[in-house]
Amino acid sequence: KEFRNNVKPNWCPGCGDFSVQAAIQRAAANVGLEPEQLAVISGIGCSGRISGYINAYGLHGIHGRSLPIAQGVKLANRELTVIASGGDGDGFAIGMGHTVHAIRRNLDVTYIVMDNQIYGLTKGQTSPRSAEGFKTKSTPEGSIETTLSPLEIALSAGATFVAQSFSSDLKQLTMLIEEGLKHKGFSLINVFSPCVTFNKVNTYDWFKENIVNLEQFPDYDPSNRIAAMTKIMETNGMVTGLIYQNKARKAYDELIVGFKEEGLAKQDIQLSRADFDKLLMEFK
Ligand code: SF4
Repeated sequence: KEFRNNVKPNWCPGCGDFSVQAAIQRAAANVGLEPEQLAVISGIGCSGRISGYINAYGLHGIHGRSLPIAQGVKLANRELTVIASGGDGDGFAIGMGHTVHAIRRNLDVTYIVMDNQIYGLTKGQTSPRSAEGFKTKSTPEGSIETTLSPLEIALSAGATFVAQSFSSDLKQLTMLIEEGLKHKGFSLINVFSPCVTFNKVNTYDWFKENIVNLEQFPDYDPSNRIAAMTKIMETNGMVTGLIYQNKARKAYDELIVGFKEEGLAKQDIQLSRADFDKLLMEFK
């Protein structure tokens, strides 16, 4: 069960994404996966490189499109465990439409967002997760837009699994990814993953001071959606832990009438030219 490969990450020293990589590798091993049973699909951004740093099937896709690709992989080969990953710009700006609809579709994919509240790869611009007043080269007078709250959006869209963690808390992060992998349906795990090079505001120390860990609330019930929304709002989105899980709602594949257990990758699809033409006509 070796999920490490020989590729040396070219993230900046201290980047939060290193811990996310380690947590995925540990979680995959802890739930008993073999490398050939896992696919990691990523978008564009510094965090998008992660698919190349894990010994599993991987695809470094295009900006904001990790989720359509990941869902296609899952449908084509249902025996694979599929992780989609990327940054907050990737998933909550250009990819937000896909994120919301993947959440409500509830296909069995684990989506890990490395949220550094800035665009790192393009050298430091304001992202949808940057705070109001945040100054970068794209908002030199400070951002005048509100900060997007992905957890509130996820709950509103009918998410069945919502979690948040911090890349410094490897134990919690690994545990949450394990739970996401085991969850039957779509799992959103937002990870505070500091960009040490371009974000000098949301630093490791800043997160340590502002995070509210759910461990402080032993009576917290993650099956209570209203309590989850309340906790997110009360903490200004800084809560970490398993925030919400709905085990009752069926996953996408369990609801499709006539759904074939075998994905395309496992089906015998030797089509004759006549069959192929007939199929094409159906889509005309
Ligand atoms: Fe990480 Fe920021 Fe460096 Fe990108 S620029 S690798 S996000 S520290």
